[in-house]
Amino acid sequence: MNILILGSGGREHTFAYKIAQSSKCSKLFVAPGNAGTSQVAENLQLNPIDFAAVGNTSLEKNIDMIVVGPEDPLVKGIVDYFANDDRLKNIQIIGPSSRGALLEGSKERAKEFMAMHKIPTAAYESFSYESLGAGRNFLETLNPPYVLKADGLAAGKGVLIIDDLEEAKKELENMLSGKFGAASEKVVIEEFLDGIELSVFVLTDGKNYKILPTAKDYKRIGEGDTGLNTGGMGAISPVPFADETLMNKIEERIVKPTVNGLIEEEIDYKGFIFIGLIKVNNEPYVIEYNVRMGDPETEVVLPRIKTDLVELFESTWKGDLDKVNLEVDERSATTVMMVSGGYPESYQKGKTITGLDEIKDSIVFHAGTKIEDGEIVTSGGRVIALTSFGEDYKKALKKSYQSAEKLQFDKMYFRKDIGFDLS
Ligand code: ATP
Repeated sequence: MNILILGSGGREHTFAYKIAQSSKCSKLFVAPGNAGTSQVAENLQLNPIDFAAVGNTSLEKNIDMIVVGPEDPLVKGIVDYFANDDRLKNIQIIGPSSRGALLEGSKERAKEFMAMHKIPTAAYESFSYESLGAGRNFLETLNPPYVLKADGLAAGKGVLIIDDLEEAKKELENMLSGKFGAASEKVVIEEFLDGIELSVFVLTDGKNYKILPTAKDYKRIGEGDTGLNTGGMGAISPVPFADETLMNKIEERIVKPTVNGLIEEEIDYKGFIFIGLIKVNNEPYVIEYNVRMGDPETEVVLPRIKTDLVELFESTWKGDLDKVNLEVDERSATTVMMVSGGYPESYQKGKTITGLDEIKDSIVFHAGTKIEDGEIVTSGGRVIALTSFGEDYKKALKKSYQSAEKLQFDKMYFRKDIGFDLS
């Protein structure tokens, strides 16, 4: 099969790495890709949200399957675009329809879906500028800290957690007045849940599902989970505290009702559901749905999957995921992200990366890299993810950190405490 992956980060390099290992894959393309994907696939200069260009290129290159990495093309309707074009509708595109993608594209919609299907989540109400007064009153009924969420996509920046009531009221007004543009025309205010977070990944064909390995990511730039939010500084899989009891609760109370909800609402959904959870007194609550894999969680989840990924995707498309046996590597996987100094604020690009060939004990996944004059240089905030295996997460982490010592670029930074909250 000829397969096209859309996206350019560490997530997409991991997809490419796994798919390239499949005997079912004859030609692999990544658009636009990075320096890492160019080692296992052919990079195409294509913008994933230019659907017409993606469609034409798919026809030109005889693409049989498309794996959509990021949320943007999904929320904008790439799956519907393919489904509605006779020339493209038989291409196996892995991702939800735009109605399905709204579970990530609108936090109000996600909360309504959870309420409708009785999925445990924080109590909430949603407000627009017209109901600002009611929003202020609602804040008064809650205990601090106050959680304010822009309804739409805001590149991971649209959630504010504020201790002071007056400040929360002011921020509510700012958000509704356009602080995050159209994304915050509506704001969800929700109860603060105090617990430990984890992520559960599900692959569904719209009826059947497979629960993929769990993961925990580390979002803040600073050690001890301090400082600004980033795309993610590291991840661990499996999550040591996700024991059988907790996983059963997650499957019965969250995964099944979510998939059944999609069926009941007749939503076409063939793809990943990333469920962001928080465990409060051993009970799981949903914080958010994402409609694609996470980054850097993909860098630890996919390497643990032993089943041929292309086979899994074919069954996802055909609707017979129940016939596939999901095999998972029992070992732990960890990833540590090397980032550009200054990230997630301003940082420089174009720094030469050295030491890549010396890394033997980790898998090197490229995120923000490109090839310039024959050299691999930095081209983004998050640059390289170093994934390692071990009997437990501590042993795996040790390898990721040893590999990090071999890598160099000007102002390289990484967190040295991934997994700090687990022991
Ligand atoms: P992401 O960048 O992960 O996609 P997002 O911007 O879509 O995030 P959420 O995941 O809903 O937004 O929230 C971001 C973070 O805020 C969560 O990972 C969690 O740490 C915190 N958070 C969100 N809702 C709550 C809540 N109700 N109680 C406590 N913390 C919360």
